[in-house]
Amino acid sequence: MKYIDGFRNPAAAAAIRGQIDAWGKTLAAAGRRVAIMEVCGSHTMAIARYGIRDLLPAGVSLISGPGCPVCVTPTQYVDAAIELAERGMTIVTFGDMLHVPGSQSTLAACRSKGGRIEVCYSPARTLELAAAEPGREIVFLAIGFETTIAPVVSMLDVAVQRGLRNVSLLTAFKLVPPALHALLTDPEIRIDAFLCPAHVSAIIGADAYLPFAAQYRVPCVICGFEPLDILYGIEGVLGQVAAGEARVDNRYARVVTHGGNAQALALMDRYLRPVDAAWRGIGTIPASGLGLREAFAAYDAERRHGVTVALGRENPACRCGDVLKGKLRPPECPLFGTACTPDHAVGPCMVSSEGTCSAYFKYSEQ
Ligand code: SF4
Repeated sequence: MKYIDGFRNPAAAAAIRGQIDAWGKTLAAAGRRVAIMEVCGSHTMAIARYGIRDLLPAGVSLISGPGCPVCVTPTQYVDAAIELAERGMTIVTFGDMLHVPGSQSTLAACRSKGGRIEVCYSPARTLELAAAEPGREIVFLAIGFETTIAPVVSMLDVAVQRGLRNVSLLTAFKLVPPALHALLTDPEIRIDAFLCPAHVSAIIGADAYLPFAAQYRVPCVICGFEPLDILYGIEGVLGQVAAGEARVDNRYARVVTHGGNAQALALMDRYLRPVDAAWRGIGTIPASGLGLREAFAAYDAERRHGVTVALGRENPACRCGDVLKGKLRPPECPLFGTACTPDHAVGPCMVSSEGTCSAYFKYSEQ
């Protein structure tokens, strides 16, 4: 595709949409319905923002996956972060985490009672705080997928090189491929194809999806975030389904390579090892997270400060788990838009700027 006039060229959009419609007719004639999961929260937001669902042919649907890092971070993690703040440590976090409900409270409420919660735009802020107050423990809330893991580990690397001993990470890192495997083996979820995440793919590389295409016969198309990118990705999925193919198609080659970012992957491997990880609303997925290696235990907030990320208590009325697995559309949750809104969020999917409920609410997809 040529981006001659940028990424929002109406003529290019019309041409891609024409091809999408043509595939839609082919698939309808064959009686095929196609459920495409967009895995990434940023894709979810862009799809809602640009009204992409309204452009899909009958029988083709987009379902949102578990790709919002804040949304899948479990309740007990928020509880542990609050405990550390209440014990007098400085907590450094991205802003989205502030209002995510823990079992009893939120980090925002903790801050209003005097807890030192620093909102950052970059993990590097942790280093500044640690250097400014060497006598104070600084804990970075290390959540996120491969995209975020790389810069956080890079920050840790600097802390280690500089000998900063008052920095630690409360880790809840998540990996995308094990989550895709868990979704594809859940008999209650039907996924015909993946629109694969863009930024994560820049780290792990397009080849990371080869097993899903080969083992599950699921087309995997990587695309960017602009409206044309997403339409182009959907067109790629439908073309494969219509042809009975299941391949990895990298339609974000301006950023994503086959093998990913070797430097980032090497740094991650140096500091981190695979661990089983709890996903909010989904449960524990084997080897779906990364924790600090034994050699770096001094930088692990759980071990350094003896905090326990015990089982948390989720609001039983919140259906985020089903939303994150693509089983439920947000408007089907009884609390959507009534008891649960961005100003008074019951669950993390309404809090995060990448949350599916937030996307539906903000752009009125009912
Ligand atoms: S609308 Fe609110 S309560 Fe319902 S699933 Fe979404 S975040 Fe949870």
